[in-house]
Amino acid sequence: MAIQSLNPATNKVIKNFTPHSPDELENSLNRADLAFGSWRKTLFTERADLMRRAAQELKDNVNHYAEIITLEMGKPIRESKGEINKCALCCEFYAEHAETYLKDEDIHSDASVSYISYEPLGIILAVMPWNFPFWQVFRFAAPSLMAGNVGLLKHASNVPQCALAIEEVFRKAGFPEGVFTTALVESEAVETLIKDDRIKAVTLTGSEGAGASVAALAGSQIKKTVMELGGSDAFIVLADANLEETAEMAAKARMINTGQSCIAAKRFIIEEKIAPKFINRMKHYLQALKTGDTLDETTDYGPLARQDLAASVQKQVDESVAKGAKILLEGGRPDETSAYFHPMMLTDIQPGTPAHEEEIFGPVACIFVVKNAEEAIKVANESRYGLGASIWSCNVQEARKLARQIESGAVFINGIVQSHPALPFGGIKKSGYGRELSYVGIREFVNQKTVWVA
Ligand code: NAP
Repeated sequence: MAIQSLNPATNKVIKNFTPHSPDELENSLNRADLAFGSWRKTLFTERADLMRRAAQELKDNVNHYAEIITLEMGKPIRESKGEINKCALCCEFYAEHAETYLKDEDIHSDASVSYISYEPLGIILAVMPWNFPFWQVFRFAAPSLMAGNVGLLKHASNVPQCALAIEEVFRKAGFPEGVFTTALVESEAVETLIKDDRIKAVTLTGSEGAGASVAALAGSQIKKTVMELGGSDAFIVLADANLEETAEMAAKARMINTGQSCIAAKRFIIEEKIAPKFINRMKHYLQALKTGDTLDETTDYGPLARQDLAASVQKQVDESVAKGAKILLEGGRPDETSAYFHPMMLTDIQPGTPAHEEEIFGPVACIFVVKNAEEAIKVANESRYGLGASIWSCNVQEARKLARQIESGAVFINGIVQSHPALPFGGIKKSGYGRELSYVGIREFVNQKTVWVA
């Protein structure tokens, strides 16, 4: 894909970028490698100071950075500002906790003293997606840099301005040159990077296909990977749920980032007793959402990030409808050149169709009506993905029992699935492996070294 900044709301090119040449990439790798030599020796307090300054830079310039996101990938400005503030929170969180998370851990064994020491690895390559173009990067960079690693970012080709702005945040905060670098390269360059000895590990957030390809390459080089891939999260509504509130949350959960979130609820699994009323109310909340100018604070949803993405969501819907799915809420693309996609609801979804088998990365709610909680769990687990899920019920004890039966990396009860710096984030099945955030995430890219003393 060409490296290009294009506003999907207007279809206007903002700027074209020339990919970094092999020489420029070599310089970036050299600088990063050199930087690691001294960065790994810095004290946690020094790293924390810089990380807090990065947070301040984000907070002081929230409008500037948010506007870059909105213009480049179409996220409504209100959500873009939320994203920037969340990145600042993540920087502050790891500035505060990294030292505790990585302090030597005494282990009782046959030694007089034995412990685990957590030591940095070197350059970590981050291959990142466009959907949360700042957040996905910061949730990797804050813990990795605090652990003493250095980061090399290969961002999605449609968000080069975000990629460069993130580098600018770290530079302005005072991080030494090479500690965080953006490489403006196309995905073909990833193979060369993975094969380079200076790259020690790879983290990828993106689609299943990209994950399989990058993980295979890294595997061939015996390099550790973390894979944050797609999802088709279940939103399970039991008959005793607070119907009105849950229907409102269901609409919100589907519409996060105009439906382009890995943890957006995608499959709504409703007990039949309340299904007609619930569907009606959810439809009401979806219809009440306002679209339009992405820079207007009152806009609820914008276009999808690219025209081709809107076209492929429409294709998934059309194929599913052609094979039996019923449309409960009309929507979709207003015309064949638009990146906009109005919310839709589908039901009677047949096995073997895209709405049943695939992740729909856009505002399409797939409704499944079930007899009881047992069937709800069965349907939830039919997906090839296992990222998040939510259960909505007034009986929290029962919901907690059901949570154990769900095949996913997270279950939220009476709340929308979301990420928080303190809580591990990641999936199972085709949603990937490894975890980001919390103490678990910061320990993914460190040498967990055993030290044994006679
Ligand atoms: P994508 O097409 O897989 O792209 C993600 C990144 O991988 C981009 O930087 C892309 O570069 C690169 N890439 C693509 N194919 C590659 C290959 N064969 N080799 C090396 N690099 C490759 O995904 P996307 O469309 O940007 O993002 C949407 C997907 O990400 C959805 O499936 C979503 O669920 C998932 N996601 C998961 C999480 C999570 O935490 N689990 C979070 C957010 C998104 P180019 O842009 O240059 O192609």
